[in-house]
Parts: sequence; structure tokens; C-alpha cells
Amino acid sequence: MTLTVDTLTVWMDKFGNKIGENKQYLSDLDTPIGDGDHGFNMDRGMTAVKEKLSSKPENVTDGLKNIAMALISTVGGASGPLYGTAFLEMAKKSSSTTDLGELLDAALKGIEMRGGANPGDKTMVDVWDKLVPEVKDGTLTEDKITAAVEATKDMVAKKGRASYLGERSKGHIDPGSQSSGYLFEAMLETEGL
Ligand code: ADP
Ligand code: MG
Ligand code: MG
Repeated sequence: MTLTVDTLTVWMDKFGNKIGENKQYLSDLDTPIGDGDHGFNMDRGMTAVKEKLSSKPENVTDGLKNIAMALISTVGGASGPLYGTAFLEMAKKSSSTTDLGELLDAALKGIEMRGGANPGDKTMVDVWDKLVPEVKDGTLTEDKITAAVEATKDMVAKKGRASYLGERSKGHIDPGSQSSGYLFEAMLETEGL
């Protein structure tokens, strides 16, 4: 699937709506194993993204770059630079390909490089690592997204604030994995992606 300015705009609109509708839930997930701000951080970011995209970007690269900048400058915390890096890496990659799977692959590598997390560390990497191959194979489903998010519940956090709790981080869904789940759901719901 090829990412265009139009599909990128619809995707981000749907993602922003999901974040807005679930900001309290995301922050509630962040309360027992973090500092209770993830939903509010992401909602601030996606409001800024929506604002940016209200004037149509000239091309996909500009659009992705604008999204990255909006996220980096407004989200804060651990997740802001990580989501920002994801979109910045997609922007860079988009000069050579607009294939969504290839772009997401670059995004995942960026997140891993920036945050140093591996699969199993109970971070958003767990969701990206499981779902990017599904996008590439054209086999992504709602159930697979839910399963990838739910799988973080039994993990012990090795990175981020939740890692301070050690074993006690078990039994809670990772908030950044849940928000990443919304990103993939929004993608699935975007016609043409
Ligand atoms: P903060 O923890 O600074 O308040 P947020 O609450 O906005 O930031 O984001 C927390 C989320 O960021 C976690 O749920 C996790 O998914 C993600 N995260 C934290 N550290 C890392 C890391 N090193 N690599 C990947 N993701 C991370
Ligand atoms: Mg937090
Ligand atoms: Mg915080």
C-alpha cells in the first residue's frame, strides 16, 4: 500500500480521534506503572498534528516531517521523542519509497534506536515489532492488534518509568503500546491503506 497525502491525512485524523476519545483511559493505564499522563501527552500532540495538517502538505515527506515536528514539540515525556522519531524516520524513508510497510519498518528501527528497547521489554516496541510485519504481509487484523497490546500485560518492564517497578509492573497493559495499537487500528480503518 502506498501512503499519499490524502491517506496520511485521514489516518492521522482517525488516530487523533481515537486518542481524544481514549485520553483518560490511556492516562489511567499510565497511573499504576507510570505518572498518569500518557493520554494527555498524546492528545496534546495529536491536536497539534491536526492543526498542522489543516493546511494540506505539498507531499508525503513534508506531511510526515510536519507530524514529527508537532509531536516532538508538544507531547513531551518518553513517548514524544519516540513517536517523533518514528515519523521523522518515515519522512526520511519517503524520499525513496512510499510503501507503507517500508515506511513503518524505518519507523520501528528509529524507535528501537532512540529508546534502546527490545521486544519483550513492555514498551511500544512490542506492538510495532509484532504488527509491522503484518502490515508488510497485508495480514493485519483488529484481533492481532488487540492481541499485541494485551500481550504487554504479563511482561515485566525493562525500559521507561514502568521499569522502576520491576516485577510489580506485571498485570498492567503498557500505555504506549495501547496508543500504538490505536495508530494501527486507525491505519486499518483508512480506506486505501
Ligand atoms: P513518560 O513515561 O515520560 O511520562 P509517556 O507516559 O507519555 O511518557 O509514555 C510512556 C510510554 O512510552 C510507555 O508506555 C512506553 O510504551 C513508552 N516508552 C518509554 N520508554 C521507552 C523506550 N525506551 N523505548 C520505547 N518505548 C518507551
Ligand atoms: Mg507518563
Ligand atoms: Mg510524564
